[in-house]
Amino acid sequence: MTQEFHKKAIQQPIFELIRDSAKKLGQDTYVIGGFVRDYLLKRGVPKDIDIVTTGSGIHLAKEVASRLSGKPQVSVFKNFGTAMIKHGDLELEFVGARKESYHRDSRKPIVEDGTLEDDQNRRDFTINALALSLNEGNFGKLIDPFDGIGDLDRKLIRTPLEPGITYSDDPLRMMRAFRFASQLNFSIELESLRAISAHKERIKIVSKERIVDELNKILMCDQPSIGLGLMHQTGLMPIILPELTALQGIEEVEGQRHKDNFWHTLEVVDNIAKTTDNLWLRWAALLHDIGKAPTKRFHKKIGWTFHAHEFVGSKMVYKLFKRLRMPLNDKMKFVQKLVLMSSRPIILSEDHVTDSAVRRLVFDAGDHVEDLMTLCEADITTKNPRKQRKYKNNFKIVRQKIIEVEERDHIRNFQPPVTGEEIMEVFNLKPSKEIGIIKEAIKEAILEGEIPNEHEAAFEFMLKKAKTLGLKPVSP
Ligand code: ATP
Ligand code: MG
Repeated sequence: MTQEFHKKAIQQPIFELIRDSAKKLGQDTYVIGGFVRDYLLKRGVPKDIDIVTTGSGIHLAKEVASRLSGKPQVSVFKNFGTAMIKHGDLELEFVGARKESYHRDSRKPIVEDGTLEDDQNRRDFTINALALSLNEGNFGKLIDPFDGIGDLDRKLIRTPLEPGITYSDDPLRMMRAFRFASQLNFSIELESLRAISAHKERIKIVSKERIVDELNKILMCDQPSIGLGLMHQTGLMPIILPELTALQGIEEVEGQRHKDNFWHTLEVVDNIAKTTDNLWLRWAALLHDIGKAPTKRFHKKIGWTFHAHEFVGSKMVYKLFKRLRMPLNDKMKFVQKLVLMSSRPIILSEDHVTDSAVRRLVFDAGDHVEDLMTLCEADITTKNPRKQRKYKNNFKIVRQKIIEVEERDHIRNFQPPVTGEEIMEVFNLKPSKEIGIIKEAIKEAILEGEIPNEHEAAFEFMLKKAKTLGLKPVSP
């Protein structure tokens, strides 16, 4: 890669403006990290720009802002010695070059002012330590002390310093390594993998929020199984998501085996990554089988069963979200619901697809029925091409039937065509058990397809049902 190519990265006017500001303050200044990495990987010209400077990042940010049109505000984070400017769609982050040393029990370092070299030494990976000079004398020069360029070529994640120290100092880097491996489709150097395994317990000093942040980024990759597989391989999985580790392994009793539900799950997540960008649907794919570990049984006659694993799994979702300090809101409920219903369309697809079964599915899944179908389609991991075709085709039929049933019966977000008040009025009833029985019977008749979802038909049906309960309508 040529000098010209490097210079092109910083040909936007903003970089000359930073150069001139830095010159005025007499501070050496560089653009560093993700911007340089992603540009060199030809992932476009990133909008997030990290600037490192020898001296005060806050002063430099203020100087830059004063020269920009519109005089944008500078957000100062005094504790971190950083400052941020939003300018158009660019986000500029300024930091003073620093030297760091660590305490054993915290990932917060002791920070001193340092040189560019000190600053590059504290970066997590060689590919994240690449810097381009914004100084007048060598504007656009690449400063790459650890052969980050070579690692970009080799598609390798490697630490600038000794991996044991790097990961143990700040174990969040373990999750970042897995995330970059997934995002960039890079491998992680063997020494790093060894160091991560050796220091895996250190991940416990990292806040749950930061871990989940990285987990979410892994899940949003094209192939999340890369990062998840690395978590498994290095022993981080049982610390962070033991529910998934528990799915691993194949047992055989009397010649009967079940599939390895851990690797199956990773396949399902990769599948769903091709069809949705909804993070929570991807979480549902990740967790859809977690109830299988605690419910696994072997029966002499029928072999392996995972009875009620969907119900057990949906309860586990709550505990898992709570433990990882994830939101216990409608997102969590969505994941729970999908886990709970995750086998429903499968049962449909194995059999002849009836209208009433589809109506019940739409009734129970409500607005999540399409997401549920997406999950179930991703769940097809059979290597038998005939079965693969059959299931896929049946899901197509189910999807088509959902549309038909929707048009005809409006089952989604079902509103009873005859209300409780109406029943009370017609039969002159006080709130009582009978009303519930009649309402339930009407709903059942609609779902079974005995009557259409319309007031007139439901009213007729109500009169008949009431008669069997010994109720007579009061004359108007
Ligand atoms: P992206 O923004 O796509 O996640 P990035 O590399 O820009 O990728 P950031 O988290 O924005 O990642 O961090 C910016 C830079 O700061 C990184 O490129 C890296 O040099 C450095 N960095 C971030 N986190 C750490 C860490 N935990 N340890 C060491 N260096 C880090
Ligand atoms: Mg960034």
